[in-house]
Order: sequence, then structure tokens, then C-alpha cells
Amino acid sequence: MNLRSFSKLLAAAALLCAAATPRAQKLQLAITVDDLPAHSELPPGTTRQQVAQTFLDTFHREHMPPIYGFVNGIRTEQAPATMQVLQAWHNAGEPLGNHTWAHTDLNDQTAEQFLADVDRNQMLLNQIDPHGQKQKWLRYPFLHEGDTVEKRRAVRAGLFARGYRIAEVSMDFEDYLWNEPYARCSAKNDPEALRYLHDSYLETADRYITVSRGLSQQAFHRDIPYVLLMHIGAFDAKMLPELIALYRQRGFTFTTMPKALRDKAYKLDPDNGDIDGGSFTELLLEARQETVAPDTKPYETLDKLCR
Ligand SMILES: [Zn+2]
Repeated sequence: MNLRSFSKLLAAAALLCAAATPRAQKLQLAITVDDLPAHSELPPGTTRQQVAQTFLDTFHREHMPPIYGFVNGIRTEQAPATMQVLQAWHNAGEPLGNHTWAHTDLNDQTAEQFLADVDRNQMLLNQIDPHGQKQKWLRYPFLHEGDTVEKRRAVRAGLFARGYRIAEVSMDFEDYLWNEPYARCSAKNDPEALRYLHDSYLETADRYITVSRGLSQQAFHRDIPYVLLMHIGAFDAKMLPELIALYRQRGFTFTTMPKALRDKAYKLDPDNGDIDGGSFTELLLEARQETVAPDTKPYETLDKLCR
């Protein structure tokens, strides 16, 4: 056998191995960004437009597939200049989804009130994208899908009748917790605190890869394609390149949210009232009355920082 046919044989053997090993399948992640056009506090001298542009530039530089941004229209009423954020997102070819007009907490509202808030927000989305998208998506604020099963079912029925699908989440490290302390610590120009924010953000994101994968193993005995929940905060924008690098290091490739949610795991419906809300996997496990991993994010330290 000459070298050439030997290497062909090797290539064929590698292909066979790959085909015989379903677990060799790569980990997949879809990034999604909530609370457009304005989330949390800003450091001095930073604008909403700059934060959004940093996100868009990073997506472009990192060759990300289209990334859904979920909109609360009320912010454009409170600060009309933030319309530019939504326009920039749309012009960059990134899709927009519905996060209700007023970031409405379903725990505090009836199904009818909640759906009216979804409709109001959709009018703004239609204005930005008059040709519309084939599929409308709803991301529940606070991941609250209904504190009672009756309310949950009523809202879902209303959403499906309007042509929405639910933008489920399956990877979440509560990235938003870092944005307020970042604004405070930047104003105080505290390098030690800023270093802590940087390190703890990546450390928590990394730990919650393990937690989220554990929940998926617990629920489905495999890795599902994950959907990451992020927010359009100033610190998120700053950390995004390193966050993407972290997921790559851990073996993830990036996909779109609709492709990730095509996985049959997401066809399941927890069909359970849950006042605390949570990710899709958490809600499913809680509906099955299985215990989920305890929450270990640094809430207290972040809250006390740079006060
Ligand atoms: Zn939100």
C-alpha cells in the first residue's frame, strides 16, 4: 500500500469512527440578548447606542450566526433616542423578538393583560420590520411562564393563536447581575473591583456551563442544543469577546436560536404552574418534582461592591 492510499484508508476509518460515535457530536449554543434597547445602569459617558454597537461589532468579528434581540418597547417611549438601537440591530441583519411592551411579570398580571402587552409591543416590532419575520418569538420576562397552570395554558394558547413560538432558555448564568456594579465601580474608578467583576463573570459563566449541561443530562440524558440568555448591558458588551472565547474553549459551536429549538427536547411542555419561573430544563425538572442544582451565583458580593 502506498502512502496515498494509506492516508485515504485512515480518512475512511476516521469517518466510520465518527459515524459510530453519536457522542462525538459538537456542543451547540445559540446566544440571545434580552431587554433591547436599554438594560440596567450605564458607566459614565457610555450610551445605549455604544453598548448595542459593541454587541453588533463583536457578532460580526466573531462570525456569529443571526442573534435574536428581545425588545421591550416601553424603553423607546421613556428615551426615544434608543429607537436607534433597535434600528441598528435590524440594519445589521439581526432578528428581533417580543419581550412584552413593559417587561411585564406574568405573576402580577392576568393572561389577558399579558397578551395585550405582547400585542402592544408587536406593533412597534412591525414598525421596525414592516415585512415581518416568518416566525414570531416571545421571550417571557423573568422567565415567568405562569404562576398557575391555568394561566400558563391560557397565555400559551393565546400566543400560539397569534403565531408565536416560545423562545426557551437552557443556559443561564444571570449575566445581568454584573451590569449595575460595573456602572458603580467604573464611576469610582476602582481597578480591583473591576478585576473582580471580570474574573467572577467568566468564572460564573464557566460554572453554569457545567450546571446547564448537568440539567440537560438529568432531563434528557444528553446535551441538547443550548440557548443562552444574555442582556444588553454595558458589562455584557465589554465581556462578550471573552465570553465567546470561553464557550469555544469548552467545545461549543454557535447556531441560531430557531435551529437550536428545533431539537425534539423542546417539544416537551412542562405544563406546570411555577411562581419562580426558570429555564426550560429547570421548569421541566421541577414539573417532574426532581431537585435541581442549588444556585451558587455571587449575589451578595456583587450587590455590596463599590457602594
Ligand atoms: Zn428581560
